[in-house]
Amino acid sequence: MNEDDSSQIYSYLSGAGYEPALKEEDAEIFILVTCSVREKPENKALSKLGELNLLKAENPNIIIGVCGCMAQRLGDKLKVGRPYLNFVVGTEQISSIPSIINSIEDGQKYKSRLSLSEKTSDLHLPGRTNKAQVGLREFIPIMYGCNNFCSYCVVPYTRGRERSRETQDILDEIKYVADRGCIEVTLLGQNVNSYGQTLQEPKTFAYLLSKACEIEGIERIRFTTSHPKDLSDELIDTMAQNDKICKHLHLAVQSGDDEILRLMNRKYKIERIYSLVEKLRKAMPKISITTDLIVGFPGEDEKAFENTLKMVRDIEFDSAFMFSFNPIPNTPAAKMEGQRLMKDKNKSLERLIELQNSITCRKNKDAEGEVKKVLAEGFSTKGEGELTGYTDGLKIVNFEGDKSLIGKIIDVKLTKGSLYGFQGELVK
Ligand code: SF4
Repeated sequence: MNEDDSSQIYSYLSGAGYEPALKEEDAEIFILVTCSVREKPENKALSKLGELNLLKAENPNIIIGVCGCMAQRLGDKLKVGRPYLNFVVGTEQISSIPSIINSIEDGQKYKSRLSLSEKTSDLHLPGRTNKAQVGLREFIPIMYGCNNFCSYCVVPYTRGRERSRETQDILDEIKYVADRGCIEVTLLGQNVNSYGQTLQEPKTFAYLLSKACEIEGIERIRFTTSHPKDLSDELIDTMAQNDKICKHLHLAVQSGDDEILRLMNRKYKIERIYSLVEKLRKAMPKISITTDLIVGFPGEDEKAFENTLKMVRDIEFDSAFMFSFNPIPNTPAAKMEGQRLMKDKNKSLERLIELQNSITCRKNKDAEGEVKKVLAEGFSTKGEGELTGYTDGLKIVNFEGDKSLIGKIIDVKLTKGSLYGFQGELVK
C-alpha cells in the first residue's frame, strides 16, 4: 500500500509540474510515506525526520511532509517538537498534496487533513490513470481499508472501513499498465478475499481475477493479502484454472492456537487452516504457501506457542514473515492482560524462525533440478552478466544471462537452493 501511495504522490506531483530529484541532496520537497504496522517502521520514520531537520538547517526552503498510516494515527502530534515539519496529511488526502505544497510555497501555515471517508466516490483515484512510470511489475490496489478489527492491528483506524474499487476501474488500470509494458500485476488489499462486497452490484474476487486474466499483455497476476476466513472454493478453482494466476498464496495465519486466534479476533480456528491448505494443495500441487506469524501475543503461554510450532511443522509453509507482538497504542491488544516480556517474546521468535528457516531451506534444496518460469527483471546485485527474477511461487532466482532477456519470462533450471532463494541456469 505504501508503494502505491508513493506512486500516486509521484503521479499527482508530476501532474502539477514537479520533477523527481536524482539525488537526495538536490531535493526541495521531502514526503515520508509512513507505516504503523509495528514500532520499528515508526521509529525509522522519526529518525529520517531527524536527518531531514539537519538538511533543512542548511537549506530552510526545504518542504517536509509526512503521510501514510503514522500520519493518520498521530496527526498534528507529529509536529510537536518538530517546527521544521511543514505538513502532515492522512491516508485519504494524498490528492491534496500539490495544493498543500503550493500554499506552503506561498507562505501559508498548514493544518493537518486527516478525515477518513466511507464513500467509494471519495477514494483517491484520479491520479491512478496517469501513472508516470510503468514497470514490469505493478501494484494495483483493488480496495482500501478493512472491517476486520483484528485486536492488534491499526489499519481499520488509519485506513478506514473497507471500500472496493469498481471492477471496471481496476480492469482499465491493468490494461493501462499492460499497454505500457507491464507483464505482472499484484492486486492489493488488506483482505482481497472480501473484494466486491461493498460495491453497488457486489462482485467476487474470483470474478475480478478471471476478468483480469483476459487482459492481453499481462502474463502474471498475483494478489495479497488473503484472510483465511474469506478464502472461497470459487477462488481456489479460479486460481487452479487460470495459468496467468501465479501459484502462490500468502495466507496470513498469525497463530496456531485457537485461544490466541480468538483473542486476536481472527474469526477462524486452526482447523480451517489445515483444511484450506489441503484444498489448495489438492487443486494446485506445486502451490507455494507463505504466511505471517506473530509470537508473544498477550496470554500466549508455552502450550499455545507449541501449537504454533506444531502447525508450522505440519503445514510446512514455503516461508513466513515472523514477528514478536508489538503493542500499537489504542488497539485492544495493547490493553490486554498477560503482556509478555520482550526478552521472552524474542526467545520464542528465535525458536520459530529457526524452525521455519530449516523448513524453507529444505524445501528449496528439494526443488533443486526443477525448471521454473522466471520473469527476468534486471541485473542482480552482482551486476551485468547475472540476471534476477521471481518464479511464479515468488522465489527469487539469480542466473547468468544478458540484457536481451530482461522483461521476458524464461525457463530456468534451479541449480542451488538456499534460505533466500536460488541460483539457476538458463534452459536453452
Ligand atoms: S485483516 Fe489485516 S488489515 Fe484488517 S484488521 Fe486484520 S490484520 Fe489488520
